[in-house]
Amino acid sequence: MAYDTNHNNNFVEIYAIGNELLVGQVLDTNTHWLIRNITAAGAQVRRAAMIRDDYDDIGEQLLAAIARQPKLIVTTGGLGPTDDDMTYRAVARALNLEQYEDAHALEMIRQRYAYLATIRPNFDASLTESRKKMALFPRGAEVLANGAGAAPALAFPIGESTLVCLPGVPVEMKDIYAGSLQPVLARTIGSGGYVERNIILDKGDESRIAPVLLAAQATHGTVYIKSRGQTVEGTQRLTVVLSRGGGDLAAVRGAVLAAEAEVVVGLELLGYSILKVIE
Ligand code: AMP
Ligand code: MG
Repeated sequence: MAYDTNHNNNFVEIYAIGNELLVGQVLDTNTHWLIRNITAAGAQVRRAAMIRDDYDDIGEQLLAAIARQPKLIVTTGGLGPTDDDMTYRAVARALNLEQYEDAHALEMIRQRYAYLATIRPNFDASLTESRKKMALFPRGAEVLANGAGAAPALAFPIGESTLVCLPGVPVEMKDIYAGSLQPVLARTIGSGGYVERNIILDKGDESRIAPVLLAAQATHGTVYIKSRGQTVEGTQRLTVVLSRGGGDLAAVRGAVLAAEAEVVVGLELLGYSILKVIE
């Protein structure tokens, strides 16, 4: 039986926007960071992709994502002052929303540049057209404060889904995730947990243990059970990884440990010894 990816409907899609990502100039570390944090919160990231700075490409991806109704659609990138930062306009176009200058967002931007003027000599804090562009929000969006940069982020409810657009600069993305995004996360993916147990075995041969894993998977469908072969100091070793995320951490842990118990019995019957278990 395959891993039951529908163990909860708490799933997430992530889209990293930026030409620089798709020419290999910048490595998409934002997606990796978001996956780790969203997984740790008990939700499941089902899809992630990189998109160019292009209205049609962004709009097409957003509409396809919305049709799947994930709890959360997260984009990073394209919120800055330059012309190629077009995420909000792409959102407005795709969802047929008016774009307007949000007074609250404009005030955040003004304060950010006023602050920069206090720490940088000869810094001009005036609200130029490029700076004001970052306050052009699609109508209906919630403005999220950015504690590490100028561009405010947004959250936009669409049916059962919520679209969240974060800046591309990693430090700003992380600041918003840890700060103004928390209430949005609480009401969308919630705060569950993720448990991963790595059972290190004394010998190799994935094909020998495959039937044990298959049998355990059949009775513990919500736990992802996977073997991974590796060579440690010239010796063939196997690691069996059991993992699961969900809203109730105690229940998640219980399910993983129950599957682990069954796997361990099966492996020992085959003559394997457990060197250690790492969580
Ligand atoms: P942007 O918000 O699109 O103007 O992005 C600003 C800067 O953030 C870019 O020039 C990149 O250096 C960096 N950046 C954007 N997207 C990512 C990403 N997915 N992963 C890592 N860095 C990124
Ligand atoms: Mg960009």
